[in-house]
Amino acid sequence: MSLASSSSAGTYELDRAHVLHSWSAQADVDPMVVERAEGVHVWDADGRCYLDFTSQLVNTNIGHQHPAVVQAVREQAEQLCTISPACATEPRSRAARLIAERTPEGLDKIFFTNGGAEAVENAVRMARSHTGRHKVLSRYRSYHGATTTAINLTGDPRRWPNEQSGAGTVHFFGPHPYRSPFHSRDESEECRRALEHLEQVIELEGPETVAALVLETVPGTAGIMPPPPGYLRGVRELCDRYGIVYIADEVMAGFGRTGAWFAVEHYGVTPDLIAFAKGVNSGYVPLGGVAVNEAIASTFDHRAYPGGLTYSGHPLACAAAVATITAMDEEGIVDNAATVGAEVLGPGLRELAERHPSIGDVRGLGVFWALELVTDRATKEPAAPYGGSGPVMKRLVAECAEAGLLIPTTYHRVHVVPPCTITAQQAREGLAVLDGALDTVDRTLAE
Ligand code: PLP
Repeated sequence: MSLASSSSAGTYELDRAHVLHSWSAQADVDPMVVERAEGVHVWDADGRCYLDFTSQLVNTNIGHQHPAVVQAVREQAEQLCTISPACATEPRSRAARLIAERTPEGLDKIFFTNGGAEAVENAVRMARSHTGRHKVLSRYRSYHGATTTAINLTGDPRRWPNEQSGAGTVHFFGPHPYRSPFHSRDESEECRRALEHLEQVIELEGPETVAALVLETVPGTAGIMPPPPGYLRGVRELCDRYGIVYIADEVMAGFGRTGAWFAVEHYGVTPDLIAFAKGVNSGYVPLGGVAVNEAIASTFDHRAYPGGLTYSGHPLACAAAVATITAMDEEGIVDNAATVGAEVLGPGLRELAERHPSIGDVRGLGVFWALELVTDRATKEPAAPYGGSGPVMKRLVAECAEAGLLIPTTYHRVHVVPPCTITAQQAREGLAVLDGALDTVDRTLAE
Protein backbone atom coordinates (compact mmCIF):
# COMPACT_ATOMS: atom_id res chain seq x y z
CA MET A 1 0.00 0.00 0.00
CA SER A 2 1.42 3.41 -0.95
CA LEU A 3 1.87 6.13 1.64
CA ALA A 4 -0.99 8.04 0.02
CA SER A 5 -3.41 5.17 0.13
CA SER A 6 -2.42 4.10 3.64
CA SER A 7 -2.98 7.63 4.91
CA SER A 8 -6.18 7.79 2.88
CA ALA A 9 -7.40 4.61 4.56
CA GLY A 10 -6.94 6.42 7.87
CA THR A 11 -8.70 9.49 6.54
CA TYR A 12 -11.62 7.47 5.28
CA GLU A 13 -11.96 5.44 8.46
CA LEU A 14 -11.74 8.49 10.70
CA ASP A 15 -14.33 10.23 8.54
CA ARG A 16 -16.72 7.32 8.86
CA ALA A 17 -16.10 7.06 12.59
CA HIS A 18 -16.46 10.73 13.46
CA VAL A 19 -17.92 12.89 10.67
CA LEU A 20 -21.65 13.39 10.31
CA HIS A 21 -22.32 14.25 6.66
CA SER A 22 -24.91 16.70 5.33
CA TRP A 23 -28.20 15.73 3.71
CA SER A 24 -27.43 11.99 3.93
CA ALA A 25 -28.36 8.82 5.69
CA GLN A 26 -24.99 8.11 7.27
CA ALA A 27 -25.09 4.44 6.34
CA ASP A 28 -25.10 5.44 2.66
CA VAL A 29 -22.16 7.85 2.92
CA ASP A 30 -19.07 6.80 0.96
CA PRO A 31 -16.92 9.91 0.47
CA MET A 32 -14.15 10.17 -2.09
CA VAL A 33 -10.88 10.93 -0.30
CA VAL A 34 -9.40 13.92 -2.09
CA GLU A 35 -5.68 14.43 -1.93
CA ARG A 36 -5.28 17.60 -3.97
CA ALA A 37 -6.86 19.75 -6.67
CA GLU A 38 -5.65 22.27 -9.20
CA GLY A 39 -7.56 24.34 -11.74
CA VAL A 40 -10.37 22.20 -13.14
CA HIS A 41 -8.88 18.91 -11.85
CA VAL A 42 -9.17 16.93 -8.63
CA TRP A 43 -6.99 13.97 -7.57
CA ASP A 44 -8.18 11.23 -5.27
CA ALA A 45 -5.98 9.50 -2.72
CA ASP A 46 -5.05 6.80 -5.22
CA GLY A 47 -3.69 9.46 -7.56
CA ARG A 48 -6.58 9.27 -10.05
CA CYS A 49 -7.25 12.54 -11.81
CA TYR A 50 -10.78 13.79 -12.51
CA LEU A 51 -12.02 16.66 -14.64
CA ASP A 52 -14.39 18.59 -12.37
CA PHE A 53 -17.74 19.38 -14.01
CA THR A 54 -19.24 20.01 -10.55
CA SER A 55 -17.19 22.99 -9.32
CA GLN A 56 -17.74 21.10 -6.03
CA LEU A 57 -21.03 22.63 -4.84
CA VAL A 58 -20.95 25.01 -7.81
CA ASN A 59 -18.58 27.30 -5.98
CA THR A 60 -15.04 26.96 -7.40
CA ASN A 61 -15.70 29.46 -10.18
CA ILE A 62 -12.02 30.39 -10.40
CA GLY A 63 -10.91 26.73 -10.20
CA HIS A 64 -8.81 25.15 -7.49
CA GLN A 65 -5.66 26.56 -5.91
CA HIS A 66 -5.46 29.73 -7.96
CA PRO A 67 -1.96 30.92 -7.02
CA ALA A 68 -2.96 34.58 -6.53
CA VAL A 69 -5.77 33.65 -4.16
CA VAL A 70 -3.64 31.16 -2.22
CA GLN A 71 -0.93 33.81 -1.91
CA ALA A 72 -3.42 36.46 -0.74
CA VAL A 73 -4.77 34.18 1.99
CA ARG A 74 -1.22 33.28 3.06
CA GLU A 75 -0.16 36.94 3.25
CA GLN A 76 -3.31 37.95 5.09
CA ALA A 77 -2.81 35.11 7.59
CA GLU A 78 0.66 36.42 8.35
CA GLN A 79 -0.65 39.98 8.76
CA LEU A 80 -3.98 39.59 10.62
CA CYS A 81 -6.03 36.39 10.82
CA THR A 82 -9.09 37.66 12.62
CA ILE A 83 -10.55 40.78 14.19
CA SER A 84 -13.89 42.00 15.51
CA PRO A 85 -16.36 42.98 12.77
CA ALA A 86 -16.66 46.39 14.48
CA CYS A 87 -13.16 47.22 13.18
CA ALA A 88 -12.40 48.38 9.64
CA THR A 89 -9.86 46.26 7.79
CA GLU A 90 -8.23 46.71 4.42
CA PRO A 91 -9.42 43.37 2.98
CA ARG A 92 -13.05 43.96 4.00
CA SER A 93 -13.08 47.57 2.76
CA ARG A 94 -11.51 46.55 -0.56
CA ALA A 95 -13.74 43.51 -1.02
CA ALA A 96 -16.84 45.64 -0.36
CA ARG A 97 -15.77 48.18 -2.97
CA LEU A 98 -14.93 45.51 -5.58
CA ILE A 99 -18.30 43.81 -5.06
CA ALA A 100 -20.28 47.08 -5.07
CA GLU A 101 -18.56 48.07 -8.34
CA ARG A 102 -19.93 44.90 -9.95
CA THR A 103 -23.51 44.92 -8.65
CA PRO A 104 -26.15 46.86 -10.62
CA GLU A 105 -26.07 50.59 -9.97
CA GLY A 106 -27.32 51.66 -6.56
CA LEU A 107 -26.44 48.51 -4.59
CA ASP A 108 -23.45 50.09 -2.93
CA LYS A 109 -23.37 48.76 0.63
CA ILE A 110 -22.26 45.24 1.51
CA PHE A 111 -23.17 43.23 4.61
CA PHE A 112 -20.83 40.24 4.94
CA THR A 113 -21.79 36.75 6.14
CA ASN A 114 -20.08 33.35 6.21
CA GLY A 115 -22.10 31.78 3.42
CA GLY A 116 -25.23 31.75 1.30
CA ALA A 117 -27.91 30.77 3.81
CA GLU A 118 -26.85 33.55 6.17
CA ALA A 119 -26.90 35.95 3.25
CA VAL A 120 -30.53 35.03 2.55
CA GLU A 121 -31.40 35.23 6.27
CA ASN A 122 -29.97 38.73 6.50
CA ALA A 123 -31.55 39.90 3.26
CA VAL A 124 -34.93 38.84 4.65
CA ARG A 125 -34.15 40.50 7.98
CA MET A 126 -33.36 43.76 6.17
CA ALA A 127 -36.55 43.55 4.12
CA ARG A 128 -38.71 42.86 7.18
CA SER A 129 -37.10 45.67 9.16
CA HIS A 130 -37.38 48.08 6.24
CA THR A 131 -41.03 47.37 5.39
CA GLY A 132 -42.40 46.42 8.81
CA ARG A 133 -44.07 43.47 7.06
CA HIS A 134 -43.52 39.78 7.76
CA LYS A 135 -44.32 37.43 4.84
CA VAL A 136 -41.77 36.42 2.23
CA LEU A 137 -42.61 34.89 -1.13
CA SER A 138 -40.42 32.40 -2.99
CA ARG A 139 -40.91 29.95 -5.82
CA TYR A 140 -41.36 26.22 -5.88
CA ARG A 141 -38.28 24.64 -7.46
CA SER A 142 -35.72 26.73 -5.58
CA TYR A 143 -33.00 26.38 -2.97
CA HIS A 144 -32.07 29.14 -0.54
CA GLY A 145 -29.99 27.45 2.17
CA ALA A 146 -30.30 25.30 5.27
CA THR A 147 -30.89 27.82 8.09
CA THR A 148 -34.42 28.36 9.38
CA THR A 149 -35.80 31.10 7.14
CA ALA A 150 -33.72 30.02 4.13
CA ILE A 151 -34.87 26.40 4.28
CA ASN A 152 -38.49 27.46 4.79
CA LEU A 153 -38.16 29.62 1.68
CA THR A 154 -36.67 26.71 -0.24
CA GLY A 155 -38.96 25.15 -2.81
CA ASP A 156 -37.57 21.61 -2.90
CA PRO A 157 -37.93 18.48 -0.75
CA ARG A 158 -35.18 19.54 1.63
CA ARG A 159 -37.73 21.93 3.16
CA TRP A 160 -40.13 19.16 4.12
CA PRO A 161 -38.34 17.80 7.22
CA ASN A 162 -37.48 21.37 8.31
CA GLU A 163 -40.82 23.10 7.96
CA GLN A 164 -41.77 25.48 10.74
CA SER A 165 -45.13 27.04 11.34
CA GLY A 166 -45.02 30.81 11.57
CA ALA A 167 -42.01 31.11 9.26
CA GLY A 168 -44.06 33.54 7.18
CA THR A 169 -43.00 31.93 3.90
CA VAL A 170 -45.35 31.50 0.93
CA HIS A 171 -44.54 29.63 -2.27
CA PHE A 172 -45.62 30.42 -5.81
CA PHE A 173 -44.98 28.83 -9.21
CA GLY A 174 -42.22 30.33 -11.29
CA PRO A 175 -41.94 29.90 -15.04
CA HIS A 176 -40.75 26.48 -16.23
CA PRO A 177 -41.55 26.16 -19.93
CA TYR A 178 -40.48 22.49 -20.17
CA ARG A 179 -42.81 21.41 -17.36
CA SER A 180 -45.17 24.35 -17.40
CA PRO A 181 -47.37 24.61 -14.31
CA PHE A 182 -49.58 26.88 -16.45
CA HIS A 183 -49.98 24.56 -19.45
CA SER A 184 -48.44 27.22 -21.65
CA ARG A 185 -47.61 26.60 -25.28
CA ASP A 186 -44.55 28.81 -25.46
CA GLU A 187 -42.19 30.97 -23.43
CA SER A 188 -44.08 34.22 -23.83
CA GLU A 189 -47.35 32.61 -22.68
CA GLU A 190 -45.45 31.03 -19.77
CA CYS A 191 -44.04 34.42 -18.83
CA ARG A 192 -47.42 36.15 -18.94
CA ARG A 193 -49.25 33.43 -17.02
CA ALA A 194 -46.47 33.17 -14.40
CA LEU A 195 -46.72 36.92 -13.76
CA GLU A 196 -50.54 36.81 -13.56
CA HIS A 197 -50.26 33.93 -11.08
CA LEU A 198 -47.70 35.82 -8.99
CA GLU A 199 -49.88 38.92 -8.87
CA GLN A 200 -52.81 36.81 -7.69
CA VAL A 201 -50.69 35.27 -4.95
CA ILE A 202 -49.68 38.75 -3.79
CA GLU A 203 -53.29 39.96 -3.84
CA LEU A 204 -54.64 36.90 -2.04
CA GLU A 205 -51.88 36.96 0.60
CA GLY A 206 -52.50 40.68 1.19
CA PRO A 207 -49.84 42.95 -0.31
CA GLU A 208 -49.50 44.91 2.95
CA THR A 209 -48.35 41.69 4.68
CA VAL A 210 -45.59 40.86 2.18
CA ALA A 211 -42.10 42.14 3.00
CA ALA A 212 -40.10 40.51 0.25
CA LEU A 213 -39.93 38.22 -2.71
CA VAL A 214 -36.81 36.04 -2.94
CA LEU A 215 -35.91 34.66 -6.32
CA GLU A 216 -32.86 32.90 -7.70
CA THR A 217 -32.19 34.83 -10.90
CA VAL A 218 -31.50 31.49 -12.57
CA PRO A 219 -32.71 28.74 -10.23
CA GLY A 220 -29.70 26.44 -9.82
CA THR A 221 -29.98 23.20 -7.84
CA ALA A 222 -33.69 23.17 -8.71
CA GLY A 223 -32.91 22.76 -12.41
CA ILE A 224 -30.97 25.67 -13.98
CA MET A 225 -34.01 27.37 -15.49
CA PRO A 226 -33.14 30.69 -17.15
CA PRO A 227 -36.30 32.80 -16.89
CA PRO A 228 -38.18 33.67 -20.09
CA PRO A 229 -37.56 37.16 -21.48
CA GLY A 230 -39.58 39.74 -19.58
CA TYR A 231 -40.29 37.64 -16.48
CA LEU A 232 -37.85 39.34 -14.12
CA ARG A 233 -38.85 42.79 -15.40
CA GLY A 234 -42.44 41.80 -14.60
CA VAL A 235 -41.39 40.68 -11.11
CA ARG A 236 -39.64 44.01 -10.59
CA GLU A 237 -42.80 45.87 -11.62
CA LEU A 238 -44.99 43.83 -9.27
CA CYS A 239 -42.59 44.45 -6.38
CA ASP A 240 -42.65 48.19 -7.13
CA ARG A 241 -46.44 48.23 -7.42
CA TYR A 242 -46.97 46.54 -4.05
CA GLY A 243 -44.01 47.94 -2.09
CA ILE A 244 -42.31 44.54 -1.85
CA VAL A 245 -38.52 44.21 -1.54
CA TYR A 246 -37.06 42.23 -4.46
CA ILE A 247 -34.24 39.99 -3.22
CA ALA A 248 -32.21 38.28 -5.95
CA ASP A 249 -30.53 35.14 -4.64
CA GLU A 250 -27.33 34.96 -6.69
CA VAL A 251 -25.48 32.66 -4.32
CA MET A 252 -25.03 30.16 -7.14
CA ALA A 253 -25.63 32.28 -10.26
CA GLY A 254 -23.36 35.19 -9.25
CA PHE A 255 -19.69 35.89 -9.86
CA GLY A 256 -19.29 34.63 -13.39
CA ARG A 257 -21.33 31.43 -13.43
CA THR A 258 -23.73 32.71 -16.12
CA GLY A 259 -21.04 34.57 -18.06
CA ALA A 260 -21.77 37.87 -16.26
CA TRP A 261 -20.73 39.14 -12.84
CA PHE A 262 -24.36 38.87 -11.76
CA ALA A 263 -27.06 37.02 -13.68
CA VAL A 264 -29.50 39.96 -13.38
CA GLU A 265 -27.32 41.73 -15.98
CA HIS A 266 -28.73 39.37 -18.65
CA TYR A 267 -32.28 40.43 -17.83
CA GLY A 268 -31.87 44.18 -17.32
CA VAL A 269 -33.31 44.31 -13.81
CA THR A 270 -32.05 45.87 -10.60
CA PRO A 271 -33.15 44.07 -7.44
CA ASP A 272 -33.22 45.86 -4.08
CA LEU A 273 -30.93 43.31 -2.46
CA ILE A 274 -28.60 40.65 -3.87
CA ALA A 275 -27.56 37.66 -1.74
CA PHE A 276 -24.20 36.24 -2.82
CA ALA A 277 -21.61 33.68 -1.62
CA LYS A 278 -19.81 30.78 -3.38
CA GLY A 279 -18.09 32.39 -6.39
CA VAL A 280 -17.28 35.63 -4.53
CA ASN A 281 -14.03 33.93 -3.47
CA SER A 282 -14.68 30.44 -4.85
CA GLY A 283 -15.04 29.16 -1.30
CA TYR A 284 -11.31 29.25 -0.51
CA VAL A 285 -12.43 30.66 2.85
CA PRO A 286 -16.19 30.73 3.64
CA LEU A 287 -17.81 34.03 2.65
CA GLY A 288 -21.19 35.38 1.64
CA GLY A 289 -23.07 38.61 1.89
CA VAL A 290 -25.84 40.94 0.84
CA ALA A 291 -25.49 43.88 -1.54
CA VAL A 292 -27.92 46.56 -0.35
CA ASN A 293 -29.50 49.51 -2.13
CA GLU A 294 -29.52 53.03 -0.75
CA ALA A 295 -33.19 53.04 0.33
CA ILE A 296 -32.79 49.95 2.48
CA ALA A 297 -29.29 50.77 3.71
CA SER A 298 -30.48 54.18 4.90
CA THR A 299 -33.17 52.52 7.05
CA PHE A 300 -30.28 51.67 9.32
CA ASP A 301 -28.63 55.10 9.32
CA HIS A 302 -30.14 56.03 12.67
CA ARG A 303 -31.73 52.74 13.67
CA ALA A 304 -29.54 49.80 14.67
CA TYR A 305 -29.34 47.00 12.14
CA PRO A 306 -30.77 44.08 14.12
CA GLY A 307 -28.26 41.41 13.08
CA GLY A 308 -24.57 40.50 13.14
CA LEU A 309 -22.01 37.71 13.02
CA THR A 310 -18.69 37.25 14.83
CA TYR A 311 -16.96 36.61 11.51
CA SER A 312 -18.72 39.21 9.36
CA GLY A 313 -16.09 40.31 6.86
CA HIS A 314 -13.47 37.83 8.05
CA PRO A 315 -10.03 39.09 6.96
CA LEU A 316 -8.92 35.80 5.37
CA ALA A 317 -12.21 35.40 3.48
CA CYS A 318 -12.21 39.00 2.29
CA ALA A 319 -8.55 38.81 1.23
CA ALA A 320 -9.52 35.76 -0.82
CA ALA A 321 -12.42 37.73 -2.35
CA VAL A 322 -10.18 40.66 -3.32
CA ALA A 323 -7.69 38.30 -4.98
CA THR A 324 -10.44 36.26 -6.66
CA ILE A 325 -12.28 39.24 -8.14
CA THR A 326 -9.00 40.85 -9.24
CA ALA A 327 -7.79 37.64 -10.93
CA MET A 328 -11.19 37.08 -12.58
CA ASP A 329 -10.93 40.60 -13.98
CA GLU A 330 -7.33 40.39 -15.11
CA GLU A 331 -7.69 36.94 -16.67
CA GLY A 332 -11.04 37.54 -18.38
CA ILE A 333 -12.61 34.63 -16.49
CA VAL A 334 -16.21 35.89 -16.68
CA ASP A 335 -15.90 36.36 -20.44
CA ASN A 336 -14.38 32.89 -20.68
CA ALA A 337 -17.46 31.41 -18.98
CA ALA A 338 -19.70 33.23 -21.48
CA THR A 339 -17.64 32.10 -24.48
CA VAL A 340 -17.27 28.45 -23.45
CA GLY A 341 -21.01 28.36 -22.76
CA ALA A 342 -21.98 29.93 -26.08
CA GLU A 343 -19.43 28.14 -28.26
CA VAL A 344 -18.89 24.73 -26.67
CA LEU A 345 -21.25 23.71 -23.86
CA GLY A 346 -24.52 24.99 -25.33
CA PRO A 347 -23.97 23.69 -28.88
CA GLY A 348 -22.30 20.50 -27.55
CA LEU A 349 -25.17 19.64 -25.21
CA ARG A 350 -27.78 20.38 -27.89
CA GLU A 351 -25.89 18.11 -30.24
CA LEU A 352 -25.95 15.36 -27.57
CA ALA A 353 -29.72 15.86 -27.31
CA GLU A 354 -30.07 15.18 -31.04
CA ARG A 355 -28.42 11.79 -30.62
CA HIS A 356 -29.62 10.67 -27.18
CA PRO A 357 -33.35 10.07 -26.84
CA SER A 358 -33.01 10.10 -23.03
CA ILE A 359 -32.37 13.86 -23.10
CA GLY A 360 -35.70 15.67 -22.83
CA ASP A 361 -34.47 19.24 -22.41
CA VAL A 362 -31.23 21.23 -22.53
CA ARG A 363 -31.06 24.66 -20.95
CA GLY A 364 -28.58 27.07 -19.43
CA LEU A 365 -26.02 29.76 -20.13
CA GLY A 366 -22.38 30.41 -19.31
CA VAL A 367 -21.04 27.43 -17.38
CA PHE A 368 -24.47 26.69 -15.89
CA TRP A 369 -26.34 23.94 -17.79
CA ALA A 370 -28.89 21.22 -17.11
CA LEU A 371 -30.08 18.18 -19.01
CA GLU A 372 -33.42 16.62 -18.11
CA LEU A 373 -33.28 12.85 -18.57
CA VAL A 374 -36.60 11.24 -19.43
CA THR A 375 -37.83 7.74 -20.13
CA ASP A 376 -39.99 9.02 -22.97
CA ARG A 377 -39.72 12.37 -24.73
CA ALA A 378 -43.45 12.49 -25.48
CA THR A 379 -44.60 12.02 -21.88
CA LYS A 380 -41.51 13.69 -20.34
CA GLU A 381 -41.54 11.01 -17.64
CA PRO A 382 -38.46 11.76 -15.49
CA ALA A 383 -35.72 9.11 -15.40
CA ALA A 384 -35.74 9.33 -11.57
CA PRO A 385 -38.43 10.48 -9.13
CA TYR A 386 -38.74 14.03 -7.80
CA GLY A 387 -36.73 14.19 -4.58
CA GLY A 388 -34.94 10.89 -5.25
CA SER A 389 -32.38 9.23 -7.46
CA GLY A 390 -32.48 6.00 -9.41
CA PRO A 391 -30.21 3.30 -10.79
CA VAL A 392 -29.85 4.95 -14.16
CA MET A 393 -28.63 8.23 -12.64
CA LYS A 394 -26.24 6.45 -10.28
CA ARG A 395 -24.83 4.47 -13.17
CA LEU A 396 -24.28 7.61 -15.23
CA VAL A 397 -22.33 9.25 -12.38
CA ALA A 398 -20.29 6.07 -11.81
CA GLU A 399 -19.52 5.62 -15.50
CA CYS A 400 -18.40 9.25 -15.82
CA ALA A 401 -16.19 8.91 -12.73
CA GLU A 402 -14.71 5.72 -14.13
CA ALA A 403 -13.77 7.69 -17.25
CA GLY A 404 -12.33 10.57 -15.16
CA LEU A 405 -15.24 13.03 -15.03
CA LEU A 406 -16.98 14.32 -11.90
CA ILE A 407 -20.51 15.39 -12.79
CA PRO A 408 -23.47 16.25 -10.51
CA THR A 409 -27.00 14.93 -10.82
CA THR A 410 -30.14 16.12 -9.05
CA TYR A 411 -33.06 13.68 -9.21
CA HIS A 412 -33.43 13.02 -12.98
CA ARG A 413 -31.19 15.87 -14.11
CA VAL A 414 -27.52 16.11 -15.04
CA HIS A 415 -25.97 19.49 -14.31
CA VAL A 416 -22.95 20.67 -16.27
CA VAL A 417 -21.31 23.27 -14.05
CA PRO A 418 -17.51 23.35 -14.46
CA PRO A 419 -15.34 26.20 -13.17
CA CYS A 420 -15.54 29.45 -15.17
CA THR A 421 -11.87 28.90 -16.05
CA ILE A 422 -12.49 25.75 -18.11
CA THR A 423 -10.96 25.80 -21.59
CA ALA A 424 -12.88 24.88 -24.74
CA GLN A 425 -10.74 21.74 -25.06
CA GLN A 426 -11.43 20.62 -21.48
CA ALA A 427 -15.14 21.28 -21.97
CA ARG A 428 -15.10 19.09 -25.10
CA GLU A 429 -13.27 16.32 -23.21
CA GLY A 430 -15.95 16.31 -20.52
CA LEU A 431 -18.78 16.27 -23.07
CA ALA A 432 -17.16 13.27 -24.81
CA VAL A 433 -17.21 11.32 -21.54
CA LEU A 434 -20.83 12.35 -20.91
CA ASP A 435 -21.70 11.23 -24.46
CA GLY A 436 -20.43 7.71 -23.69
CA ALA A 437 -22.34 7.50 -20.40
CA LEU A 438 -25.54 8.69 -22.11
CA ASP A 439 -25.27 5.73 -24.51
CA THR A 440 -25.66 3.49 -21.47
CA VAL A 441 -28.59 5.60 -20.20
CA ASP A 442 -30.35 5.33 -23.58
CA ARG A 443 -29.84 1.58 -23.69
CA THR A 444 -30.98 1.05 -20.09
CA LEU A 445 -34.12 3.15 -20.52
CA ALA A 446 -35.00 1.39 -23.76
CA GLU A 447 -34.82 -2.09 -22.11
N1 PLP B 1 -28.91 30.07 -2.26
C1 PLP B 1 -28.62 29.35 -3.35
C2 PLP B 1 -29.20 29.75 -4.66
C3 PLP B 1 -27.78 28.24 -3.26
O1 PLP B 1 -27.51 27.53 -4.36
C4 PLP B 1 -27.23 27.90 -2.01
C5 PLP B 1 -26.34 26.74 -1.87
O2 PLP B 1 -26.22 25.91 -2.74
C6 PLP B 1 -27.56 28.70 -0.90
C7 PLP B 1 -28.40 29.77 -1.06
C8 PLP B 1 -27.01 28.37 0.46
O3 PLP B 1 -25.65 28.64 0.52
P1 PLP B 1 -24.74 28.00 1.68
O4 PLP B 1 -24.72 26.52 1.47
O5 PLP B 1 -23.41 28.68 1.48
O6 PLP B 1 -25.36 28.37 2.97
